[in-house]
Amino acid sequence: MEFEFNSVYIEVVKDDITKSKLDCIVNAANTSLLGGGGVDGAIHRAGGKEIVTECIKIRERQGGCPVGEAVITTAGKLDAKFVIHTVGPVWNNGLRNEEEKLKNCYLNSLNLANQYHIASIAFPNISTGIYKFPKKKAAEIAVSSVREIIEGNNSSVRRIQFVCFDDENYHIYLKTIKGLD
Ligand code: ADP
Repeated sequence: MEFEFNSVYIEVVKDDITKSKLDCIVNAANTSLLGGGGVDGAIHRAGGKEIVTECIKIRERQGGCPVGEAVITTAGKLDAKFVIHTVGPVWNNGLRNEEEKLKNCYLNSLNLANQYHIASIAFPNISTGIYKFPKKKAAEIAVSSVREIIEGNNSSVRRIQFVCFDDENYHIYLKTIKGLD
């Protein structure tokens, strides 16, 4: 399902993000940047060790990645050119600014994409797996953050894909995006 908003295409798909052919995929990483379970494990497995080698260099430079921030590496063996690693918040009943931190994941990833002149980017449903962020709230934050960037009208990004892995997220995203117009 595809929607156009201010000449930017927003797509919702149900897929494995490691198969994406867009310029850049986003990883729901953890602060260590050394890989983990879920989508993080899948990206590192499919992309090969080039990705972790660059992550280690970033760790040496800045000591990992704080929650809500984003860093960029090669995509190794993946079809994408880049992986943006962002660290979502662990859900803690909304008591630790999780909503703002999740919003920062989307905004910082898109700002980094713009710095690298990236035209197309695929996002997983950050924090909705092991980190247990409520799915509907997470989708609303994802869509409104992306909308904020698009309304700014000065990003290199022309295509944004929300790649859902489970049916529940897929249907939540379709509903949330339809509320855009
Ligand atoms: P987090 O720790 O941020 O919650 P997870 O990887 O556990 O990260 O989950 C984030 C989302 O990514 C979940 O909705 C999960 O279903 C999804 N996911 C897991 N593997 C993949 C994959 N290969 N492609 C796309 N999404 C995936």
